[in-house]
Amino acid sequence: MGTARLGVVPFDHGSQYVSARNAKFKAFLDETVATNYASKWQPRGYAGDSGEGQISTWYVGTPGMSSIVRPLAENVRMTFGRRVHTLQRKDKLWTLWFDDQTSEGPFAAVAVTVPAPEAQLLLGRLPVLAEPLERVRMQPCWALMVRLDQRLLPEQDVYSDMSQIVRWVSRNNSKPGRATGGDHIVVHAAPTWTRQTEDMEPEAVAEELWAEVSHVLSLPPVRPAQMAAHLWRYGLCDTPLGETFMFAREHMVGVGGDWCRGRLAEHAFESGHALGSAIVEAFS
Ligand SMILES: Cc1cc2nc3c(=O)[nH]c(=O)nc-3n(C[C@H](O)[C@H](O)[C@H](O)COP(=O)(O)OP(=O)(O)OC[C@H]3O[C@@H](n4cnc5c(N)ncnc54)[C@H](O)[C@@H]3O)c2cc1C
Repeated sequence: MGTARLGVVPFDHGSQYVSARNAKFKAFLDETVATNYASKWQPRGYAGDSGEGQISTWYVGTPGMSSIVRPLAENVRMTFGRRVHTLQRKDKLWTLWFDDQTSEGPFAAVAVTVPAPEAQLLLGRLPVLAEPLERVRMQPCWALMVRLDQRLLPEQDVYSDMSQIVRWVSRNNSKPGRATGGDHIVVHAAPTWTRQTEDMEPEAVAEELWAEVSHVLSLPPVRPAQMAAHLWRYGLCDTPLGETFMFAREHMVGVGGDWCRGRLAEHAFESGHALGSAIVEAFS
């Protein structure tokens, strides 16, 4: 659900939109729209997620996808940009150790909500949680951000499953509340191609992906003003856990994420909500 910048232009380089099947998530999204953290997006000319016209309502954060989670972060003390490498349990309390050898805590409970392979590393000493994580499979995904000074894409705002290499192309500035002028394009590569190229330099990946997009959309040969590729190493879940979350009450630690049930933001919401409720219940 991240937003990255090329120069001053923001791009949604991960999640493109969210949709809701679950009533609780729908109510949350409607609230974010009412409070201007999100808007509905109706891309032009797309045949829809059913192939026969867009069936679900697509929501996007405004001014970027990451705005959708802002209401959840109000009144919460948060620390960014520090990677946890160890969870330490002592006297029934938890301490979090970071890569820079600093720590936070003690805490009465911990919720681990990182991708499954990283959760496995953090929870290695607790087989009751770590072992089931072995069955989860996550695939990498290259994302390409392209800034063009002129309009170049044909009228359609979204294209999906274009070729063996390109899975998604969208005009980011067709979303509500984005910067206008030119075309700001997000491309997602297909999983198999990403796996084959994940060790390549991002600059070389950007060139290859842009050449493929130009080819499949028959674009005139135009050099982008700027472009950059980003690898989501644990981007999309292939094989989910099959449980909404796991919580070890005797250790007061739980684990959740989209990969518990699927690969969408809605699955992350369901998992986080259920794990949070289990932790609150354990305290009561
Ligand atoms: C390319 C792409 C396109 C997508 N498109 C869509 C879409 O259109 N619609 C949709 O609904 N979903 C989409 N998704 C999926 C959606 O982004 C995820 O379902 C959602 O972000 C999962 O949320 P999460 O909180 O479970 O995990 P994440 O969003 O993965 O958050 C986990 C966080 O943990 C941090 N972290 C990891 N390890 C550590 C550590 N050791 N210490 C501290 N922090 C750590 C990470 O940096 C990250 O910020 C897409 C995903 C990708 C990659």
